Amino acid sequence: MRRGSFKIRLIIGLAIVAFAFIRRCSQQEVNPYTGRTQAISLTPEQEIAIGLQSAPGMAQQHGGLHPDNRYQVLVDNVGNKLVQNSIAEQTPYKYEFHLLADQRTINAFALPGGQIFITYALFSKLENEDQLAGVLGHEIGHVLGKHSNERITDSKYWQTLIMGAGAIDMGAVAQQVGQGTLLKNGRDDELESDELGVHFMIDAGYNPEEMIGVMKILKEAAGPNRVPEFQSTHPDPENRIEHIRDAIRKYKNAS
Ligand SMILES: [Zn+2]
Repeated sequence: MRRGSFKIRLIIGLAIVAFAFIRRCSQQEVNPYTGRTQAISLTPEQEIAIGLQSAPGMAQQHGGLHPDNRYQVLVDNVGNKLVQNSIAEQTPYKYEFHLLADQRTINAFALPGGQIFITYALFSKLENEDQLAGVLGHEIGHVLGKHSNERITDSKYWQTLIMGAGAIDMGAVAQQVGQGTLLKNGRDDELESDELGVHFMIDAGYNPEEMIGVMKILKEAAGPNRVPEFQSTHPDPENRIEHIRDAIRKYKNAS
């Protein structure tokens, strides 16, 4: 009796795992802007809708929009200049740049579809327009790289796998592997966005070396008693600086 029920669970579990795997294979697409193959499950229209839907809540979490319109205009101008002079212009995404009132959390982030945010805490640490272009360029990179789309697709995949493995009693194993993969993707996303950011900066006439200045500001901000959530989602700035130098060499020679 026990052996029989194990067999059934094994078959169901394997069927679910096979389903998850086959679905994932069918989701593989070459990103037309980065050339990288990735598993995605949302259309650009869905990405834009999710971004627009989540934007007000995100702003709320950071004290709303910054009241000084002069700063907001600067953020808009730099962001739009990056978009208009790069491949970002050829994407279906609708880019909007928001300066948040938050004076404590040093951060910038992008929602899928083009909603981009920078906190006043980070904005006020920047030394020049090129550094602002570096931050916004990096965030445009997340949108164009479809990183949220990829992560959402990944988590659906792991949820299904865990369900399948749960039927065969291997849930804990799959769970560990799943979390490791999500974190690793996060680091790769950051490096890809840095590289895209450098590319956009060069195309829009900004000094790409200033992206290194941004890393130094982030490094200082990630000190022993500051914003741990930032450290957990961003790779070591020192490691990023090396990749940024490589990207500058790559795209300067190309232009
Ligand atoms: Zn990032």
